[in-house]
Amino acid sequence: MNNSAPRPYIGRFAPSPSGPLHFGSLVAALGSYLQARSQQGLWLLRIEDLDPPREVPGAADAILHTLDAFGLHWDGPLVYQSQRLGAYQAVLDSWSRLGLTYHCRCTRKMISASGGFYNGHCRNLALPDQEAATRLVMNRPVYHFHDQLQGTVRIPRALAEEDFIIRRRDGLYAYNLAVVLDDADAGITEVVRGADLLEPSGRQISLYQMLKAPVPRWLHLPLASHSGHKLSKQNHAPALDIQQPGQALWQALDFLGQQPPADLFGAGSSELLSWAQLNWRLSLIPKKTNIELRCVGSSHFQRPALL
Ligand code: GLU
Ligand code: ZN
Repeated sequence: MNNSAPRPYIGRFAPSPSGPLHFGSLVAALGSYLQARSQQGLWLLRIEDLDPPREVPGAADAILHTLDAFGLHWDGPLVYQSQRLGAYQAVLDSWSRLGLTYHCRCTRKMISASGGFYNGHCRNLALPDQEAATRLVMNRPVYHFHDQLQGTVRIPRALAEEDFIIRRRDGLYAYNLAVVLDDADAGITEVVRGADLLEPSGRQISLYQMLKAPVPRWLHLPLASHSGHKLSKQNHAPALDIQQPGQALWQALDFLGQQPPADLFGAGSSELLSWAQLNWRLSLIPKKTNIELRCVGSSHFQRPALL
């Protein structure tokens, strides 16, 4: 498909079933929902159950139930990453036939000893696949990209040029590979998610280019934090109260800078969502990401869990 041809808006929300939805995930769900609905677009839902050890039993169903209770109804069939493993492997195989992947047995310790970035150590060793991760030969590094909210995002050179892992040593497919194949196959035109995923977007653009698939637009929303800590399932942020969707929705709209009227506080979700859809303004969203983009090569660099 021609990259410049206008495509009808298709957005998505892609939660991992590692716990129930909390306020931070509601912000991402609501922001992506309103971006799609305010442009008469589709809003798809994908459960990112790619990592069984991190999955909490019952979390996927609880997420679906919560979205329903909040009136955030999705379009089309629900996608589970666990049902897409064949598609991931097929792409991996085709890249491997082209010599674009290789096996690597470097440990975390070796990588931190070489400055925190993988330096291509195993690229020409032709290691067998036992006990090895699969890396991609990175010949399409992306050093910057445009984000609808954050403007130009620069990617540290060492990060952009790293031969990153697409299949982990434990055999699980890497987040970046799965998310791009899923979004490309679903024809997603814009990715709206939390700013904790700003940096991986560079690698994801590299993958779109390798697939010759149109690159979506990007919009990374500010992260809700509590006393300086990002709200996340790992931090045990409280689950949303499905009995009171109106209050959390109002607060999420307020967090996104949309200035919901005070008298709508605690209104029903459909009333709040109709107001929000009509009044949604991207320009009102606060730009701050609430995270610091770490500098290249410095010992302060802390690799986000998904990179
Ligand atoms: N599954 C990821 C998460 O819950 C989000 C992935 C994405 O939106 O690209 O953090
Ligand atoms: Zn290696």
